[in-house]
Amino acid sequence: MARSTPAERFAAKTTPGPIPTGPNTPDTPCLLWPETSLDRDGYGRFWVDGRVVPAHRWAFEQKRGPIPAGLELDHLCAVRRCVADDHLDAVDHRTNVLRSTGPSAVNARRTKCKHGHDLTDPANVHVSYPPSHPNGMRKCRACARTRARRTREPQLAHVATITTHHTPERTAA
Ligand SMILES: [Zn+2]
Ligand SMILES: [Zn+2]
Repeated sequence: MARSTPAERFAAKTTPGPIPTGPNTPDTPCLLWPETSLDRDGYGRFWVDGRVVPAHRWAFEQKRGPIPAGLELDHLCAVRRCVADDHLDAVDHRTNVLRSTGPSAVNARRTKCKHGHDLTDPANVHVSYPPSHPNGMRKCRACARTRARRTREPQLAHVATITTHHTPERTAA
């Protein structure tokens, strides 16, 4: 029996999926990796050349060549376990964040915060990458300053109330 090639093993694991719906998604069907061999983030895992590689990256490199250094693969269909190479685009991290469809990306596409501050000005935007938002999370610095002021003021007022309340009690004792 002839040993199957990585490409044959790869093909045997995939099943055609639906055509993605949503704005700016490809009009060809997804190619789905089995749900039983996904990594923690929901990307396919493929065992090849003695190691485990992300299935979509392997598919892309087979069909379209090496992913240029520093670039990440963006799923145009937003389906993480999709391994259709034409649903993948090699982009820089910022573009990947801006294009992604999660709540943080919807946020990333906004040009103003809910209080009308400019979110296109890098000086007003703080980007962090907490575990809950691996694609990045933007925060409006102007709003953060307002919030910090508001939290400080009521606390001071509270302390003042306690002090005035306590003083007469102490004198009475
Ligand atoms: Zn897809
Ligand atoms: Zn703001």
